Amino acid sequence: MERWTEKRNCYNCDGTMHRCKNKIFGFEARGWKCPKCGEGIMLGEDAQKAFVFNQLKEGIPVKIGKLGNSYIIRIPKRVYDAFGMKNKEVSIFFQIKKDGSKVMTLEF
Ligand SMILES: [Zn+2]
Repeated sequence: MERWTEKRNCYNCDGTMHRCKNKIFGFEARGWKCPKCGEGIMLGEDAQKAFVFNQLKEGIPVKIGKLGNSYIIRIPKRVYDAFGMKNKEVSIFFQIKKDGSKVMTLEF
């Protein structure tokens, strides 16, 4: 797996690339930028997260399943990973708004 701490050479001009961070879809993605020709590369795992954050603008549907007598919410792995939900306490709130709309909020 590639690491951000690795030194990278530009595939365009073979110059030494510098590490950088760019805000993409509200997410700070790590990568490298070539000071000579301006070529940029995004760290693979951050590119995947940026893709998920972009999808979140439209919303990502989750599935509800049944487990015994309970209902469970299935969160796609890519969302779970992008939000860094591992080992975090997750709370779900159900709410009926004044206009009657029903909202479910997930906090972690
Ligand atoms: Zn270059």
